[in-house]
Amino acid sequence: MRFSILFFFLYPFFFPFVSAHEAILLMGPPGSGKGTFSSYLESAGYGHISAGDLIRQEILSGSTLGVKLKGIVDNGEYIDTDTLFFLVEGRVRAFCDQKRPVIIDGYGKTKEDWVRLNAFLETLGLKRRVILFEAPEKVCLDRVLERLVCTDCGYITGKKLGLMEGVLCPKCKKQKLGLRMNDTLKVTLKRLKTYHEEIKPLLLETYKGEKVLIYNSDVSYEDLAKDFSLLLQKSCSLIDYW
Ligand SMILES: [Zn+2]
Repeated sequence: MRFSILFFFLYPFFFPFVSAHEAILLMGPPGSGKGTFSSYLESAGYGHISAGDLIRQEILSGSTLGVKLKGIVDNGEYIDTDTLFFLVEGRVRAFCDQKRPVIIDGYGKTKEDWVRLNAFLETLGLKRRVILFEAPEKVCLDRVLERLVCTDCGYITGKKLGLMEGVLCPKCKKQKLGLRMNDTLKVTLKRLKTYHEEIKPLLLETYKGEKVLIYNSDVSYEDLAKDFSLLLQKSCSLIDYW
C-alpha cells in the first residue's frame, strides 16, 4: 500500500518510459517477485494480466472451463495453447482499447504458447519486451510459503510485513488475505524444478536473438521498489541481458 501511494506521486517521473504501445512479458519462477513488480507497474498505468490469476479465477468460478482447468492443474499438466490464449486475449484487447500498456505475467510454458501470444501482440501493433526475474531457489521457496494474497484484487503481500491470514485486504478492503491455492511445499518444489528444467530453457530458445532482460530479483521489497523505474529505463545495475 505504501508503495502504491509512493508510485502514484512519482508516476509523472516514470511517464517518459511508459509507452501505450508496449507489452512487457514478465517471466520467472514462482516467488521471484513477478507479482510484486507487476503491482508497481499497475501503479504506473500498466494493465496487469497474470496468467496464473486468470486460471485461478476461472477455477474458483466453477464454470465448465474452470472444472476442466482444475483437473489439468491438479494433475500437474500444462494448459493447452488455445485455452491459455483464450483466457488472456480479451484482457489484452481491453487494455489496448484503453490505450494502456500491458504487463503479462507468467504466460506460457511451451514455445507454441509464446509464438501464439507474440503473433497476437504484433497484430495489435504492440512492441514487446521480455523481462526474466531470477532468484535462488531457497529465496523463491521462502517467499511462496510466506505470501498472502487477495483473491478479489490480486494484492500480494507477505507475512514478514506483519500481516496475517484472515486480515482484510489493505488494497480493496473487500476480501480477507489468505494463502494461494497450491502454495504448498510439495507443489512449489515441483513447480520450481519444472521451471528450471523445462520452461526457462524453452523460453530462452524461443526469444533467442532478442534481448531478454534478466533481473536478479533476490532483493528486498524496498530495493525492488527502488529498481522499478530503473528497470523500465533498462539502467539498473542488477540486470543483465541474454
Ligand atoms: Zn484485495
